[in-house]
Amino acid sequence: MAGKGAGRFAPSPSGRLHVGNLRTAVVAWLFARSTGRSFLIRVEDLDRVRAGAEAEQLAELAALGITSDTPVLRQSEQADRYGQALDRLQAQGLVYECFCSRRDVADAASAPHGRPGFYPGTCRGLGGDERERRRAQRRPALRLASAVGTWTVHDLLAGEVSAPVDDVVLRRNDGVVAYNLAVVVDDAAQGIDQVVRGEDLLESAPRQAYLASLLGLPAPTYAHVPLAVTAGGSRLAKRDGAVTLEDLAGLGRSSRAVLDTILASLGLPGGPLEAALASFDPVRLPRDPWIVDPATLISPSAGPACKPSAPTDKVHP
Ligand code: GLU
Repeated sequence: MAGKGAGRFAPSPSGRLHVGNLRTAVVAWLFARSTGRSFLIRVEDLDRVRAGAEAEQLAELAALGITSDTPVLRQSEQADRYGQALDRLQAQGLVYECFCSRRDVADAASAPHGRPGFYPGTCRGLGGDERERRRAQRRPALRLASAVGTWTVHDLLAGEVSAPVDDVVLRRNDGVVAYNLAVVVDDAAQGIDQVVRGEDLLESAPRQAYLASLLGLPAPTYAHVPLAVTAGGSRLAKRDGAVTLEDLAGLGRSSRAVLDTILASLGLPGGPLEAALASFDPVRLPRDPWIVDPATLISPSAGPACKPSAPTDKVHP
C-alpha cells in the first residue's frame, strides 16, 4: 500500500483504553481503509507511561481487529528525529529559551490582558546576560517564536478551523520533546497524511499544521471525531463504570460484542470491521458526542443509551 498515504491511531500508554478511545480508533481505521490508506499505530510514550499499558492497549486494539501495518513506532525512540527538527527551527531563528514555571504561565494567562492557555511570550525578549543568569537557576524549555497569530486547517468533519498559535513549547525543560512537535515530526516521517483523532485535539491542529509548514512538511488531512461522554455530558473516563474491554469481559461481554456496540453507535452494521467498511460513509458519521450509559454496554437490551446521534448531511470536502 506504499505511496497511498496512511492513517493512524496514536494512544498514550497511560492506562487501559475505554470504549470512547476504542471508538475513535475504529473510526480512524475505517477512514484509512475506506480511502485505500495503510493504517499505523504509534505509541506516544513521552509522558504519563504506565508499565504494561502499551501491551494492553495493543492487545485491546487487536481484539477489535485493529493492528498496525508496520511495526509500532514508539516516540521514546525517535529523539534523533526530533533533534533534527529542532535544529531546523533553530536555524531559522524560531526558537527561544523559556524559564517560566507552570505557575508563571498560569499567572500570565490570568493577568488582565492574559488569555487562558496562551503563552504571551514572556521570555522571548530576554537578553543574553539575563538568560545566562536564569540558566544557572532553572533549565529552560524551548519555545517557538511564532510569527502568526492564528492558523487555519481544514477538518473533514468540522470544516475550516482557525485557532490561535502561540509560542508553543518545543522541548520541555526536562529535555524531552513536546507533544506538538513530536506529533508533527512523526506523522510526516511515517507518511501519515490523514489524522483522525478525538475532538479534544481539534484546537491543536492549527498549531501543528503551522509547525509542519515551518518544517517544510505537508499538513495532513484532519478529521476530529466527537468524544464519548456520560449522560451528564462530561468526558467519559474509566471511573465511569465498566467501560474498558477488560471490565466488560469480566462481566461477560466479548470484544466482538463491544465492537458491535461501537459500530452501532456509528450507525454501522456489526463487525468484523471489514464488514462495516462497506457501509462506512463519513457523511453519515454522528456529529454529536456519543452518550455512553455503562449499563447498556453490559446489556445492550437494557435501554437505548449509547445512541448514535443524528448524522448531519455533509462532510466538508
Ligand atoms: N496521544 C494522544 C492521545 O492519546 C493523541 C495524539 C494525536 O492523535 O495526535 O490523546
